[in-house]
Amino acid sequence: MVRRHQCDACGNPKTERFENQRFTMEHAGVRQKVDRLSGWRCKECDEVEFDPESAVRYAAAGDELVLQARQREQMELKRIRQKLDLTQQDAALITGGGHNAFSRYERGAARPLPAVMNLFKILDRHPELLREVLPESPRKSRDDHGRREDGRATHRKRSKLVEA
Ligand SMILES: [Zn+2]
Repeated sequence: MVRRHQCDACGNPKTERFENQRFTMEHAGVRQKVDRLSGWRCKECDEVEFDPESAVRYAAAGDELVLQARQREQMELKRIRQKLDLTQQDAALITGGGHNAFSRYERGAARPLPAVMNLFKILDRHPELLREVLPESPRKSRDDHGRREDGRATHRKRSKLVEA
């Protein structure tokens, strides 16, 4: 006789026993299968309560999946950055987060905000849009240089006026 087991989630007094089932979990586009899981399933609310041994393996597989998804995210970010021919500092200039933000993202020391991943996914498919957000540092420094020269020229003119 299979004993009765109440659902923790909804209080349904009759959950169904399952043995040695395969579960597929998905996280951020990465899938993983976990075999030979046993426990109780509620037909009312779909809640699953694993047996202790199954629960430990299921949780471990979940942690592994999250880790895999993060590693994939790190590799994606680096691949797209290199495809766009950006240094880590250039990329951080566009997305914020400090000059070493991308070094941290790509090492896994920090996680990028979804906005950073989303921007890079868009730039991966439409690399020509990069010029819309690039600060164009070479031209900016040329402007700065020009302004400085103008300043000197003005100063020289003024000096001449004083002399005259
Ligand atoms: Zn339930």
